[in-house]
Amino acid sequence: MASSLATAEEEPPGKALTAGEAEELPGKTSSCNRSRFFSDILAESWNDWRWQFRNRITTVEDLARFIPLSAKEQTRLKLVTAKYPLSITPYYLSLINPDDPDDPIRKQAVPSFQEVALAGIGMEDPLGEEKDSVVPGLVHRYPDRVLMVLTDICPMFCRHCTRKREWQSGGWVRTPGEIETMLDYVRKNKSIRDIIISGGDPLTLSTRRLEEVISKLRGIPHVEIIRIGTRFPVVLPQRIDDELCAMLSNYGPIWLNTQFNHAREITPESAAACDRLLRSGVPVGNQSVLLRGVNDTLEAQLNLCHGLLKIKVRPYYLFQCDEVQGTEHLRTPVEVGIKIIEGMRGHTSGLAVPTFVIDLPQGGGKVPLQPNYVLLKTEEELVLRNYQGRLFRYRNPRLSWQSPGRVGQRNGRMRRPAPPQLVLFSEEAGVRDEDRAVVRS
Ligand code: SF4
Repeated sequence: MASSLATAEEEPPGKALTAGEAEELPGKTSSCNRSRFFSDILAESWNDWRWQFRNRITTVEDLARFIPLSAKEQTRLKLVTAKYPLSITPYYLSLINPDDPDDPIRKQAVPSFQEVALAGIGMEDPLGEEKDSVVPGLVHRYPDRVLMVLTDICPMFCRHCTRKREWQSGGWVRTPGEIETMLDYVRKNKSIRDIIISGGDPLTLSTRRLEEVISKLRGIPHVEIIRIGTRFPVVLPQRIDDELCAMLSNYGPIWLNTQFNHAREITPESAAACDRLLRSGVPVGNQSVLLRGVNDTLEAQLNLCHGLLKIKVRPYYLFQCDEVQGTEHLRTPVEVGIKIIEGMRGHTSGLAVPTFVIDLPQGGGKVPLQPNYVLLKTEEELVLRNYQGRLFRYRNPRLSWQSPGRVGQRNGRMRRPAPPQLVLFSEEAGVRDEDRAVVRS
């Protein structure tokens, strides 16, 4: 049984970020509408993550105080929030341009009527997480790693969330008994070397509660790596305070993956949060989701990934948006992601290029997708296309050189393989992809 919890756990306030500190950091924009929306809020409150959490915008009426919404829009959004609730932190709200209905930050946070209009498309649990749970809250899909879901509470409800099905629960965290059952499973399964702590968002737990779990995991000899999946650095960066960072630094190696989806989310506040983690020995990676109208262009992805490298966050994955009910309006054709990667690879540092992946339905796991650079492959050679579209032959070394007379030899001399005849399709022939090739032997 999970216990009900309507608010984040009590924590000492985070250390306030001074204006000087923020200015020195490489984030691109600050929380631009803070002075417009929250001019009466003292910095002490603004920089206190508990204040941010308590003051989340959770109703359509509240939202309409900040973002122009007609009566008809409000009526429609109430229909949406009856099924898929609304939650936006004041900090994240301050990043939204209220005058732009197509604002990429708004699309991630503000409900859309399409969520219910297209609700018949997709699945509630496309990744089959429920079926792969070995004990409540523990998903064991790959042999050497498990996913530990400690809570379903999040500071913000991202409209594209894979776990939208959980939003109606009212909020729960795993009980000490449930956590002990999860830990027991990990203790007994020595093949598990990598733990991913996720949610919901696990940083909604107090630092003390998190430490109880992390310290016990560290006490299990075969657990090598602990990873935390959280969107706090993006939607409520004030949570990454000194106390949390000091605790995490005691239990390394801990890796943290977050989810920046647009360059405008890289602010002095979010940059400072990532910087604090890095200085505490916690590497930060980014797992973004490809979203229609948010980051589905080459320019948007380049801006995002270049901005991430400037704050020393590694672009790790770019996820195809999962087939989740209520997210169809944000999903893009798979080709969009492949074209974006094609536009990045070779045109910018490989460090800036994330791996584009589809998380397969029913727990099939992640499959990387990329443009096709191998146009031809034989035992002897490959024909490869580079980022400029130029073709190159590449000799394929043999697995092993065998004794004379067996492989590749005729009359005592090595036989030079006949070069394959390349026939490139042309656009004139009605085939649009000029990169495809066939071999006629
Ligand atoms: S923080 Fe993650 S789990 Fe929470 S709503 Fe956003 S995407 Fe979903």
